[in-house]
Amino acid sequence: MVDNGCRTLMKLVYRYRVKSLTGLLNTQARAVNFVWNYCNDRQKDALRFGRRWHTGFDLIKLTTGCSKELGLHSGTVNDVCQQYAKSRSQSRRPYLRYRGRKSQGWVPLKGRELKREGNAFRFAGNTFRVFYSRALPEGKITDGTNFSRDRRGNWFLNIVLEVPAPSARLPVRGVGIDLGLKNLATLSDGSRIAAPQIYRASEAALAVAQRARKKKRVAAIHTKIANRRRHYLHTCTSAIVGAFDYIVVGNINASALAKTSMAKSVYDVGWSSFCTQLAYKAVKHGAWFEEVNESFTTQICSNCGAVPDSRPKGIADLGIREWRCCDCGAVHDRDLNAALNILRRGRATLAVGIPVL
Ligand SMILES: [Zn+2]
Repeated sequence: MVDNGCRTLMKLVYRYRVKSLTGLLNTQARAVNFVWNYCNDRQKDALRFGRRWHTGFDLIKLTTGCSKELGLHSGTVNDVCQQYAKSRSQSRRPYLRYRGRKSQGWVPLKGRELKREGNAFRFAGNTFRVFYSRALPEGKITDGTNFSRDRRGNWFLNIVLEVPAPSARLPVRGVGIDLGLKNLATLSDGSRIAAPQIYRASEAALAVAQRARKKKRVAAIHTKIANRRRHYLHTCTSAIVGAFDYIVVGNINASALAKTSMAKSVYDVGWSSFCTQLAYKAVKHGAWFEEVNESFTTQICSNCGAVPDSRPKGIADLGIREWRCCDCGAVHDRDLNAALNILRRGRATLAVGIPVL
């Protein structure tokens, strides 16, 4: 992302809660499911009769002319077909699950079909009023834009906007970040971000509601948990991007860890959302973001660079929080040492990427 006159474009998603025509969206979501299931049926036919599998384009041809009858915009029908074909090939399954009442409501649309109308939006002959929580900047609304319904039945308009990326800052202040379970992140400047124990905090309330079979209450608690976690992560990542010009994170294979006994904690801390947010916010604010391999970062001494015998090794020594390097005598906090090593690795790759340094 080097600025050389022609500025690169980036995509940002703006999410607004819809406050009108939610009944219409519910109806459209059912029609979308119908189209999706039709695609799934055609795919199953192809399997049964040994025919060529349908591409998104084939499905679009098969569904031509159905939009009026279903009360959908033709762009929406096309998007569903394309998304079906894409999801099917990505999942590497011969066919997908049918969409039904329990599926999350979803109505995709072509970006060019959505028009701004003051603080509202116009799509397919209808005006959708939204809670205009923040101003939508100028830019091209692109495909991928959609309406989606959360577990509580509220509709949201997710607008994918293409805007010019800001020019990159000079990378002066850098930070290495070690992700962990006890602390969500340890920064190389010594500060720590506590893991959000939000799910655990609401566990009792959730159990009560589940036992009482209060479906709405359960959904409300789940949404609240998700919102609080998102808010917490956003606050943290915004602060980091504001404070540092280049950010280096040691990548952890979260999905591998999630299969172990630490699963609940892993899902609770939300490393992947944390990294995703850092990555896009870095682009948005002209900072540099880098993921580096975190292997051995806990074992190397950040002071002398040696791999001393006194280092903490493997899973067995996971409990060791502090250790002393037997080569140079430096005393390390385990996570801080790792963060410093991660920063060093990031610097090495950064120096290659930036001509001015
Ligand atoms: Zn040392």
